[in-house]
Amino acid sequence: VEELPESKCDVLVIGAGPAGLMLAAWMARCGINARVVDKRGTKIFSGQADGLQIRSLEIFDSFGFCDRAWKEANHMIEMCMWNPGEDGVIRRSDRVPDVPVGLSRFQQIVLHQGRIERFFLDHIKKHSKDTLHVERGVLPETLEIDDRSVDDHAPDSYPITVKLRHLADEEATPAQSNGSTVQDGLFRSNLAEDDTDDLIRKSRGKEGTAEIVRAKYMVGCDGAHSWTRRQLGFQLEGEPTDFIWGVLDIIPITDFPDIRMRCAVHSASSGSLMVIPRENKLVRLYIQLTEIKPDASGRADRSQITPEIIIKAAQKIIAPYKLTYEYCDWWTAYQIGQRVGTNFDHKSRVFLCGDAVHTHSPKAGQGMNVSMQDAYNLGWKLGLVVKGIAQPRILRTYQSERRRIAKDLIEFDHKFSRLFSGKPAKDVLDAEGVSMAEFKDAFLKGNMFASGLSVDYGASMLIAKEGDPTEQGDGTDVSSKIQIVGKQQLASNIKIGMRFPSVKVLNQSDARPWEFQEKLRSDGRFRLIVFAGNILSGSQKMRLDSFCDKLSSSAFLKSHLYKDIDILTCHSAKRTEVELLRDFPDILHPFNDRTGWDYDSVYVDDESYHEGYGDAYGNYGVDRKGGCVVITRPDQYVGFVGRLEGDGFADVEAYFKGVFV
Ligand code: FAD
Repeated sequence: VEELPESKCDVLVIGAGPAGLMLAAWMARCGINARVVDKRGTKIFSGQADGLQIRSLEIFDSFGFCDRAWKEANHMIEMCMWNPGEDGVIRRSDRVPDVPVGLSRFQQIVLHQGRIERFFLDHIKKHSKDTLHVERGVLPETLEIDDRSVDDHAPDSYPITVKLRHLADEEATPAQSNGSTVQDGLFRSNLAEDDTDDLIRKSRGKEGTAEIVRAKYMVGCDGAHSWTRRQLGFQLEGEPTDFIWGVLDIIPITDFPDIRMRCAVHSASSGSLMVIPRENKLVRLYIQLTEIKPDASGRADRSQITPEIIIKAAQKIIAPYKLTYEYCDWWTAYQIGQRVGTNFDHKSRVFLCGDAVHTHSPKAGQGMNVSMQDAYNLGWKLGLVVKGIAQPRILRTYQSERRRIAKDLIEFDHKFSRLFSGKPAKDVLDAEGVSMAEFKDAFLKGNMFASGLSVDYGASMLIAKEGDPTEQGDGTDVSSKIQIVGKQQLASNIKIGMRFPSVKVLNQSDARPWEFQEKLRSDGRFRLIVFAGNILSGSQKMRLDSFCDKLSSSAFLKSHLYKDIDILTCHSAKRTEVELLRDFPDILHPFNDRTGWDYDSVYVDDESYHEGYGDAYGNYGVDRKGGCVVITRPDQYVGFVGRLEGDGFADVEAYFKGVFV
């Protein structure tokens, strides 16, 4: 019997792709004793996902590294549609903005997954003070869950036992396919068999290469073939389709006029192609491989697929334009299929994020985004529960909130990829073909979803709004815990359940304009946002003072203020007629013995010198005189909207009593 070293950790993360790294980022920000393991010996250096949607950029910004992605990436501004004319020759039929105008300060950008992983790794290093590292070439071999202590969220309960294997270098680096010298992603593609079981088998019996880890919580971010999901016995539901696509990241040599635009090209009978202009002169082409079909097993033979075959297919689609390349950075192929997991968690102890619980085609640029956003939803909840700040029952909202998003994603992708892979209709009588008007319409409608901004979480102890949570919670009962219902009408455009939108406001103390959302950092804290209204009016000042008095004297909130709940204020009086120290209660700009007053928490809705006027109250739909209060969660989603006066304070307190220990 092997004598194995044993250790404990609070959270064990399996897999360090985008989802695992997002989770690790939260662990670093919340100061959690976590471990992150990945079976591969290195991170990704080229290829794979590249599209970053608006919401992901807002999240990066809240962590403080969006500027790196924004600078390096290619920006997608316009989308062009190319379709066959009556003569069967492709021509540009439409131009539309790539994302709806006016949605956010960000637009969609493209940059390869390897860079995004790099930004995360740097962030994790910095915020964990270099204590949290991805342990590469390490994978779990067995998982045991002690069902007796699983429901007991006591601080010293470690119900999860995992045996980890440490691989030799060569085992952690999979071979390239087809003898190619170019980096290919076939070993990660869904056309490849998973090698996890193989790796475990081969490395067994090697001395000193295993260890036992006991964990309080575990998160499987281990991709579409998820080992964790298989151990839990959970299924992915859905079917693969017969559509097979190739992907080339090349520097194209071509006379096609829109090669630096995002394009959807539907040829008359050779299939479709998507052009994604990328950083460093690269262009990603998604190319339908109409001549490659799945075999009897339902899967295509990947040894048939080479970059030469893929470019030939592209040349046919894009004819009469010419297309070749000298430099290929990466290539792969995949079979479209939309599948979603039956369960996202096991007894609020083991969770699944990202491709482990939803897979779909990559063309809509959603996979990496939705995967990171799963982990973004879960990470802070785990962080606060492990630290004993929040009640463990908030963990149940992970599945109720994210499974519905996954289902919406699958539905969106199903529709989009059918329209994209289908043959264009010859005329209105061609019922088999895809109407190009329908394609454009689906693209425009899907755009809001694809931006990531339409996410609207249902009622729970974290989202104080009306609604039947069991409807979107797939049976997870979070309903009985809702204590209060927010007053949406007080801030008609700060939707309870959606992310806090951004508008320009000015800092009261130094007149500098800020996007208000920038002040909602991902540091693990909730935010109480006081829309103080026109504090130059005596009655409004009395309302504000009275709210702040109650806040200062609440025994329950006292221990949480500033530590777990940050306070931000935005008022609507004239900036130059108001003084921070004279007109605002201290609790809104607290004093610190060493650093003095806080000059970074009170903002004003007023005209700036150089960046125009945000009209925050108008845009947020808040009454300029009376204001309101808003609570946002650590992930910027709006949990509550209520009044400054009357029952307003009691509701704020009740909200936090429903969340904190
Ligand atoms: P993954 O990125 O798959 O990461 C899983 C990690 O877990 C890997 O590092 C793996 O090594 C590790 N792992 C797996 N099993 C184990 C185990 N047993 N033990 C330890 N570690 C393990 N998405 C987009 O948004 N836009 C795109 O344009 C896009 N294009 C794509 C193109 C291709 C060719 C592919 C294959 C995917 C594309 N995607 C795209 C999808 C995107 O890459 C995934 O959705 C995203 O990477 C999912 O992140 P994840 O962290 O859930 O999983």
